[in-house]
Amino acid sequence: MKIKRSAADHWFSLCVRERAGWRCERCRKQLPENAQNLHCSHIFSRRHQATRYDPDNCQALCFSCHQQLGENPVLFAQFARQELGERRLEILTERHQMIKKRAKNEKKDIARHYRNEYRAMLEKRQAGETGYLEFTAYD
Ligand SMILES: [Zn+2]
Repeated sequence: MKIKRSAADHWFSLCVRERAGWRCERCRKQLPENAQNLHCSHIFSRRHQATRYDPDNCQALCFSCHQQLGENPVLFAQFARQELGERRLEILTERHQMIKKRAKNEKKDIARHYRNEYRAMLEKRQAGETGYLEFTAYD
């Protein structure tokens, strides 16, 4: 199923990949900045609004890892548990089960929030910060 991507999705995806320093969070392969073959992979699908923009719900994965995990839900679940730990995965699962309806104009706020987070991360990179960077969730 094809899901339409908004500006909010675009900036959030950049945040997730910048957070990882453009390195696949599974096989650790380093990709060049803005590489299209490094994906923002969702544990719970983007169809679920409650976790669509949740930093804990997403990891940066290279095309190959994304495909392997996408084809194997058991491997994907193991990877998610390993990345987040038992407790954070439980909390994420609870959040995913909440019904969330977003107003149309809220998407703009989400896009703005993650655009600002992304720019703040770029500034940290320019200041010499390497490796994994955190960013703040839109709430
Ligand atoms: Zn990989």
